[in-house]
Formats: sequence, C-alpha cells, structure tokens
Amino acid sequence: MTRAVIAFGANLGDREATIASAMRELADTQGVTLEAVSPVYETPAIKDSGVDRDAPGYLNGVVIVETGLEPHRLLDVLQAIEAEHGRVRAEHWGDRTLDLDLIDFGGREQFDARLELPHPRAWQRAFVLQPWLDIDPHAVLPGRGSVAELRQAATDEVVRR
Ligand code: ATP
Ligand code: CA
Ligand code: CA
Repeated sequence: MTRAVIAFGANLGDREATIASAMRELADTQGVTLEAVSPVYETPAIKDSGVDRDAPGYLNGVVIVETGLEPHRLLDVLQAIEAEHGRVRAEHWGDRTLDLDLIDFGGREQFDARLELPHPRAWQRAFVLQPWLDIDPHAVLPGRGSVAELRQAATDEVVRR
C-alpha cells in the first residue's frame, strides 16, 4: 500500500456538491482508502496571464489516500471521476467543474508523457500546500523539501471556508 496525496479543485457549477461526490467516488474505488480530507479553501482563478478576478473562484483542498493501485491506474481513476463530473479539457488552465491532480505518490519521483511525480507545480501553490499542511504538518514534497517551508514562501491567496 502506498500513501498518495491528491489535490481537488472546482470553479464551475455546484462546487461543494461536486467535491463531496468526488470524495465519495474516490472512497468507493477498489484499492483506494481515504485517510484524511482537508478543510476547503476559496482561491481566485489563475490563468496564463495571472489571477483572473472575472472568472468564478475555486474551492480547493487535498485528500490523502492509501492505495494498492499503481500511479497510472490511480490517475485513470481521477480522470474518470473528472469526466463523470463533466470536465471538458478546453483552454489551458480554463474553468472546470472538477480537477483532480496527483500531487505525491509515496515520495516517488518519475516522469513520462502522462504523469509527472511529484506534481511539478505543487511546490509553489498555496492552494495545494496549505490544505496538505492542515492534514499532515510534517509533509515533505520530494525534491523540494518541507511543505511547511514551501507554504511560507508561496504568495497566492487562499481563504479558509
Ligand atoms: P496543472 O497541471 O498546472 O495543475 P491542469 O490541472 O489544469 O494544470 P490538466 O488539463 O488537468 O492540467 O492536465 C493535463 C495533463 O497533465 C493530464 O492529461 C495528465 O496526463 C497530465 N499530468 C501529468 N502529471 C500529472 C499529475 N501529477 N497529476 C495529474 N495530471 C498530471
Ligand atoms: Ca491542476
Ligand atoms: Ca489536472
């Protein structure tokens, strides 16, 4: 079994309902056990051009799971849950009903066309680091260091709900 960290985000539709049902679906998945779900944060949308105050805001958080699945199979599960909630991949960093990113998989570092571990941008995102820290104060991001220190350095805005 491996401990994996998954970040969730939603900025379209009934965000709370989408996240709640995604958590249920994850918990109901064979080979996946939920260990902890973080508090939820409100964060502004970020586009290629920076913060976009005209776009609907996000609800973000993190869930820690224990899994017997391989990382690519876990990514399959995450993408299937996204698709079920009507996620359409259009514009880069565009608005979405649900985004599920695999942040850390048992401290593994690996890279291929479909999956990079740890998630390459998590280290600078307060909307990932803060909720992760809430449920694991001693978390470490492989290759980057302590999540507590990374959180201190991150400047994006997160507001606890
Ligand atoms: P970002 O990755 O910056 O958070 P995003 O979540 O909007 O952006 P997506 O459009 O959801 O990006 O995903 C693009 C691709 O990223 C996916 O098709 C997936 O194959 C790939 N990917 C690579 N590494 C990961 C990872 N650790 N977690 C989730 N997807 C990943
Ligand atoms: Ca993402
Ligand atoms: Ca994603």
